[in-house]
Amino acid sequence: MHFFTYKKNKFYAEDIAVEKIAKEVGTPCYVYSQKTLTRHYAAFDEAFESVPHLICYSVKANSNIAVLNTFIKQGSGVDIVSGGELFRALKAGANPKKIVYSGVGKREDEIEYALKTGILMFNVESPEELRTINKIAGRLKKKASFAVRVNPNVDAKTHPYISTGLKKNKFGIATEQAIKEYIFAKNNLKNLVPIGVDCHIGSQLTQISPFVDALKKTKNIIATLRKEGIDVKYLDMGGGLGITYKDEDAPHPSKYGKAVISETKGLDVTLIFEPGRVMVGNAGILVAKVLYTKQGTEKNFIITDAAMNDLARPSLYDSYHAIKPVRKNSGKEIIADVVGPICESGDFFAKDRELPPFKSGDLMAIMSAGAYGFSMSSNYNSRPRAVEVMVTGNKFKIIRDRESYKDLIKGERLS
Ligand SMILES: *Cc1c(COP(=O)(O)O)cnc(C)c1O
Repeated sequence: MHFFTYKKNKFYAEDIAVEKIAKEVGTPCYVYSQKTLTRHYAAFDEAFESVPHLICYSVKANSNIAVLNTFIKQGSGVDIVSGGELFRALKAGANPKKIVYSGVGKREDEIEYALKTGILMFNVESPEELRTINKIAGRLKKKASFAVRVNPNVDAKTHPYISTGLKKNKFGIATEQAIKEYIFAKNNLKNLVPIGVDCHIGSQLTQISPFVDALKKTKNIIATLRKEGIDVKYLDMGGGLGITYKDEDAPHPSKYGKAVISETKGLDVTLIFEPGRVMVGNAGILVAKVLYTKQGTEKNFIITDAAMNDLARPSLYDSYHAIKPVRKNSGKEIIADVVGPICESGDFFAKDRELPPFKSGDLMAIMSAGAYGFSMSSNYNSRPRAVEVMVTGNKFKIIRDRESYKDLIKGERLS
């Protein structure tokens, strides 16, 4: 559910015409709907209202501090994967006691930063990392709370690049070894406190069953650990709930909630969730202007002022994003590729897509661009990154300026 709709023939973000925003801030621009963000958070939160839980929004999906602050004001914690994300989260007002830190490659300075901040816990992904955290905590005279990210060897049935819960993936520690590590830490790593078990199996999951499979395995681990006298207070289920980009039948958070709650009955844990995509994906669009159209010998091309540096998902994952005209027209539909100006054939938003007859100067909305859109954008081809705008009702605010040419060479110098 989101608040991007047509009113007559004009496309609106909440109560403001997208063409009005584009006229004021230029294109390409990211437009987020705050009402959609708060609604998504509330839907997820309500799905678990009957059990102790903590939502830690996954910062990497969309890291703008205005987006983070929107969730934080609703009570959200954050899931971070770098020192940079910790910095952003704190700037956005995050409560350190609601921060979990995931990722396979945490640097020592990042661990130190998190320990000094006093985060809730580290989701540890390797035995060496566990020892490193223990060492740094000792140096700082602090106790570090942790969960081991277990790799349950469950197929998330999603794109291979965003599947993370298989043995062949780089993430987490396999069950048997994870249990050994908890016991080793209990006996030998005195600056560590085990408080949870963590499991994140992948992204854009459109079925509930892989979550339940992973949960069953995680429950067994918790039972084993408790027998060993390890006090597991938190079960972190990670993120991964999918959304509808095209025709996926993505489960509503309430359905996910029912399955998880019934599977964890009597377990006596606080559930942690790290949703990213489901919170922001359909709450954002990328608005682009058509620069040129051309009829090739085999294909029609619509060339826009947005490119793969602005939204990398189609080139990275061959992903589908719906494309809508910002002003509807009544011409005959065409079949075309929608492409950007970058010097790569991978620079496309749609291929062989049936579209309204866009012409030079028309605006288009590339839908479902709120997650892994701006946060994955780059300066490739020396293109300044797009402006980001937050809409609330009939008002909008620039939440990140468009980059300038000067920004492009920040920190560079002639040799
Ligand atoms: C990326 C990631 C998430 C968020 O995944 P979504 O599919 O966007 O919900 C949560 N936890 C971890 C550890 C991640 O790497």
